Amino acid sequence: MKNIKQSLLMHLNQEQQNAVITDSQYTLVLAGAGSGKTRVLVHRIAWLCLEKRYPANSIFAVTFTNKAAAEMQERIQDLIGEAHFNGMWVGTFHGLAHRLLRIFAKQAGLPTNFQLIDNDDQNRLVKRIFKERKIDEKQWSSKECVAFISTQKENGLRPHDIAIDDPKSAMWQKIYVDYQAICDRVGYVDFSEIILRTYELLKNNHEVLDYCHRRFSNILVDEFQDTNHIQFQLVKTLAGNTSNVMIVGDDDQSIYSWRGANADNLQLFINDYPDTEIIRLEQNYRSSGNILEVANQLITHNKNRLGKNLWTESEQGEQISVYVGFNDIDEARFVIGQIKKLHEEGVNYKDCAILYRNNAQSRLLEDTLLQSAIAYQIYGSIRFYERQEVKLALAYLRLLHDHNNDNAFELVVNTPSRGVGDVTLNKIRLMARQQNQSLWQTTIQLIGMKAIAARQCSGLARFIELIQSIYDDVESLPFYQQLERIVKISGIYDMYEQEAGIKGQSRLENLDELISAAQQFYQQHSKANPIMESIDGENNGTLDVLESFLAYTSLEGKESKKESDSVQLMTLHSAKGLEFDHVFIVGLEEGLFPAQRSIPDVQKMEEERRLAYVGITRARKHLTLSLSEIRRLYGKEERNLPSRFLAELPEALLHDLSYRGGINFSTTPMDEENQEDISGNQKNDEFIHQRKASFIKSQSENQGYVLGRKVLHKRFGEGTIIHLDGEGEHRRVQIAFVNEGIKWLVIKLANLTLM
Ligand code: ATP
Ligand code: MG
Repeated sequence: MKNIKQSLLMHLNQEQQNAVITDSQYTLVLAGAGSGKTRVLVHRIAWLCLEKRYPANSIFAVTFTNKAAAEMQERIQDLIGEAHFNGMWVGTFHGLAHRLLRIFAKQAGLPTNFQLIDNDDQNRLVKRIFKERKIDEKQWSSKECVAFISTQKENGLRPHDIAIDDPKSAMWQKIYVDYQAICDRVGYVDFSEIILRTYELLKNNHEVLDYCHRRFSNILVDEFQDTNHIQFQLVKTLAGNTSNVMIVGDDDQSIYSWRGANADNLQLFINDYPDTEIIRLEQNYRSSGNILEVANQLITHNKNRLGKNLWTESEQGEQISVYVGFNDIDEARFVIGQIKKLHEEGVNYKDCAILYRNNAQSRLLEDTLLQSAIAYQIYGSIRFYERQEVKLALAYLRLLHDHNNDNAFELVVNTPSRGVGDVTLNKIRLMARQQNQSLWQTTIQLIGMKAIAARQCSGLARFIELIQSIYDDVESLPFYQQLERIVKISGIYDMYEQEAGIKGQSRLENLDELISAAQQFYQQHSKANPIMESIDGENNGTLDVLESFLAYTSLEGKESKKESDSVQLMTLHSAKGLEFDHVFIVGLEEGLFPAQRSIPDVQKMEEERRLAYVGITRARKHLTLSLSEIRRLYGKEERNLPSRFLAELPEALLHDLSYRGGINFSTTPMDEENQEDISGNQKNDEFIHQRKASFIKSQSENQGYVLGRKVLHKRFGEGTIIHLDGEGEHRRVQIAFVNEGIKWLVIKLANLTLM
């Protein structure tokens, strides 16, 4: 026993140990980045199992992303062994709530084979309702409506709970009613519904709640600052009065308020449970001294903080590198050149991460990595199971087993093309609605009635026959073999084979990858090891393997590339909780990071800064910050000023590598195409210097006119600068006036007073 105790507590400091062994029923670990919060959570779980003798299935542990959940599982297993781990629930809110819904589908008012739908499916559904209600799609946005419905659900609101204060919310409320009616009828569950439905299940069904209370005596939540209202309610309901609850979080890392998350939940937790023990961790074990100091300095610019101290015993380490690219191509080349250099010095690619504000920024980085033949892996952009080819194959599989699944039907009926046009499809949709039947049934009916043009009719007939014949062909096979056959027989494999270049090739690889993922899943979860344990002798918990695979594909974030040593690319948001030796944050420009839409709003600006704090604190050994003077994004050329965050960092800790200062690109082996480009770049060097000089000059001419600066205009009154453009006497500012809206003004003419 002593050994277990010792080994669990050995690599923890005193505060961490206190958190791991606490006997308090409610505990909050409030601490900054890299202070070992997640480590505490993992050790606490091991402690509960090994020392306190709680069974594994008493643990309900929530993390924020699938990647974090997988890592946490691995770490727990390493500590306690696989045998002790069996039956433990570790996952994301969505993953775990979904498990409960699968087990208690009946009690939650759902068909046992309920289907998860994604954002695209939601959009299609709302568009269908628009058509039924004859709502003009040009005037009303289906996407906005989907977002509205999700927000309501995240706040725990059903249509009748919504306060209607304008015509728009009145409209969205009506659609929400229709939308939910369809979902309930057909058995669709969207992502926000997973949580809300689970919460309602626990609230309304005492037996289920009792079961959960008896079972989950230990609830642990990582990254609590990013829970939303309904997730918080779910935790409270699940915990009741008896469970032990440990929440772990950092208000400085709250970066999801745009998705309804609320860092105030940390405070609300303490209010709800006044005897909460609060444990603060102040020693950072992740980053070098310089990195930590830069992070600490940056975050002090936020006013709205609980405030905390973070120190490290680590050495100061290297300075923070800064690079100002002439344009975004130059910036990408610099970053990838640095990574190449590191690799030559013996650093693994997987220890290098490039972080960016928007998904769209990854394309150029990917291109540059491809040109340099460096393997990379992207997290959090289009997830593997959301890729077109993967969705298509899965839709065939689904339609095969459920002909009446309209979503699947829509996706595959004319892909590959069978000459079925929109007019015909609209006819089918209309009749299906009128007769309240599925698209599949309606199609068969229409073919029988010969009510559509011959060419279209034969295309549809071929389609129906195809699905039926595949079904006959594969019915008795395990579903991963079904998938393999479907991909071939349906024609999607051929279709992508004809798609030229790397893209087609990678789609085929993804299809192969899907089949092997299905096979793996099948082997793990068929007979011997059902995905769900049955509950108290009731057998409603055992799941159909196919159905659980399809659910798994909607919830898990499997990544497409498999290379083990590859550069890690991801948005700053998806980097949360992770750490890398070498971190590159790119695109530090006003308007990009911080994002343009956040600049006029103090709260949103603070969230951008927290995002920068999250990014910086991912780095262990070295951090590089970069930006470019000219950037082409979304097809537009932009000229942005350096991000204000750069100015907020202690200058002494920054090392400027701009304009080839310390970098010798010519030492990097490149292919012919690149060599040409680089010599072009060298010719441009003089031009680049001129550009830099003029950039600096125009900045000094317009000194004081910086983003976020308050100004006073004689007629329009007070406002805040939200955008700058042009040079010299043409320099313009865009100002958000308090009372007069947003206006562009030329500085020279506007006679503004700086406030
Ligand atoms: P974040 O806020 O970014 O999620 P965190 O507080 O969860 O960070 P961890 O990821 O748990 O921090 O820990 C950061 C790093 O420090 C990890 O590599 C972890 O293994 C290491 N670490 C934590 N505590 C200790 C300790 N007492 N001794 C040595 N290393 C530690
Ligand atoms: Mg963590």
